[in-house]
Amino acid sequence: MKIKSVRTRVFEWNGKVVPPAANFCTNAADLLYERGDSMGSFRFHGWLVCEVETEDGSIGLGNAALAPRVVKAAIDQYYAPMLIGEDPFDTEYLWQKMYRKTHAWSRKGIGMTAISAIDIALWDLMGKEVGRPVFKLLGGRTKDKIRCYASKLYGQPLDALRAEAQSYVDQGFDAVKMRFGWGPKDGPAGMRKNLELVATVRDVIGPDRDLMCECYMGWTFEYARRMLPKLEAYDIRWLEEPVIADDIEGYTELRKLGHVPISGGEHEFTLAGFQQLLDRRALDVIQYDTNRVGGISAARKINALAEAYQIPVIPHAGQMHNYHLTMASTASPMAEFFPVHEVEVGNELFYYLFKGEPQPDNGFLQLDDHKPGLGIELSHEHIGAFDVIE
Ligand SMILES: [Mg+2]
Repeated sequence: MKIKSVRTRVFEWNGKVVPPAANFCTNAADLLYERGDSMGSFRFHGWLVCEVETEDGSIGLGNAALAPRVVKAAIDQYYAPMLIGEDPFDTEYLWQKMYRKTHAWSRKGIGMTAISAIDIALWDLMGKEVGRPVFKLLGGRTKDKIRCYASKLYGQPLDALRAEAQSYVDQGFDAVKMRFGWGPKDGPAGMRKNLELVATVRDVIGPDRDLMCECYMGWTFEYARRMLPKLEAYDIRWLEEPVIADDIEGYTELRKLGHVPISGGEHEFTLAGFQQLLDRRALDVIQYDTNRVGGISAARKINALAEAYQIPVIPHAGQMHNYHLTMASTASPMAEFFPVHEVEVGNELFYYLFKGEPQPDNGFLQLDDHKPGLGIELSHEHIGAFDVIE
């Protein structure tokens, strides 16, 4: 069996979009002096789909959500030619070939995102060829179902935040994640507003549900150090990406303070990147995203490393490429789940582009033992609301 073609398409949403509210979520561009739409670096409304086809007509489906037009060019110009004529079951060899032949520019970022999309497609293809779900190829079930947390609760008026948090309680979730809307430039008044957000959500969900808080790299070390003692009273399960991904020492130092567990990793890449984070004791929770970190081939190695360090892996974003790994690893106690919603940040596009994603039942997700591969396919239901770039 040989790979015959690698097809890439970018799907850009041209349908209705919910405009971002003020103080929606902090992000790394907040420190710049521009006062325009800093959320532009946070929202993304395009998705890359990568299809790897074999001579017998089987197609593996991969995807990536970072800078999809550039990732498409990287696959088309560099990686696709390396794959033609190869056996899709040679995943480790193919991963190393892609990684080593473009090592000068692909270790992190765009190149690794492209490798991730292809690698996910290869695992989907292998599953389809043998008629088994991907998690069965990764070691099978380690849990009867996957606990998941509702991840949204962006900054908004407190009564609306309260109602949204209550809706997740009503749906049976026992864990939720909220976003901070204010950062270093907003001074003590912003700190107070952030604390009002946390207090509101904690009040709604009560003491017996997990509460996680997201900074999306919008704070600085100094700001985070001042916020952490104030957050301690709310029993936060983790504080996510308080500083930019390159500030590994910042993560280590914040974690050492011991007020609140620190999570991160959705902007880190490969086994080597996570080895650094773990060796430097930077994280309490690992949050790689399979469609950035190097695909399933890289993610499963990080799972093994995390198991050795006894650090939990709770991948960024949920979605099928992450759920299969979560099902197959004892290092992964839980998954993120983005509630299905009108297109806003861009995370929601996954549901508009693919069908087959499981929906939570009382806070748990289930994967089908009999659906081959990842178990998703392209949906045509909303195809008219996308511009398709071939
Ligand atoms: Mg995050």
